[in-house]
Amino acid sequence: MGTLDLSMKVEEIFKDLETRIREFKCVSGIRCVEGCTECCKDKPVYASPLEFLPAAFELLSGRDREIWIERVFSAPLLGPCVFLKDKALERRGCSIYEKRGLICRLFGFSYGKDKEGNPILLACRHIKERSPTWISPPPEKRAEIILASDYGMRLLSVDPVRGRPSYPINEAIQKSFEMVGFYHRYREAC
Ligand code: SF4
Repeated sequence: MGTLDLSMKVEEIFKDLETRIREFKCVSGIRCVEGCTECCKDKPVYASPLEFLPAAFELLSGRDREIWIERVFSAPLLGPCVFLKDKALERRGCSIYEKRGLICRLFGFSYGKDKEGNPILLACRHIKERSPTWISPPPEKRAEIILASDYGMRLLSVDPVRGRPSYPINEAIQKSFEMVGFYHRYREAC
């Protein structure tokens, strides 16, 4: 499958996930603390190149293309996410919110499983403190929950190598930029 097709498949998964998250937010009342970006700075955040393809396509087609290339390839691999807005400029949050990766969408609103197979909310301490009943919800409240592994598997089914969250987030973003850069160069050459 070509890089653009891969990106479109990823967007389809995100669209479905966003619907599920909206429903889960309605039922649970869970929200992020406004302006909080702790999870974007936590180390290590691991991600896959695939989940940042939509962002890479958007940024590498825009007029700030060169600025983003410079920023992404000079970002420390183990540093805070390169898309985090600059606090010194008093702009907080994610620069690419609509195109953010799978891990960014899942964290706070999805579940893993404990040793007994019970769902455990994957979220920061703030969310857990504010919504304790949703950390490990009883069976009658489980209909709406989102399993992170379901979406991880969907990404892997699109591309079992590049869909694996094996890289620190800034390295995953670099690899997605490389894939899209190669796609553009190949198209120009044809
Ligand atoms: S892409 Fe956006 S939401 Fe995801 S870690 Fe980076 S700044 Fe945070």
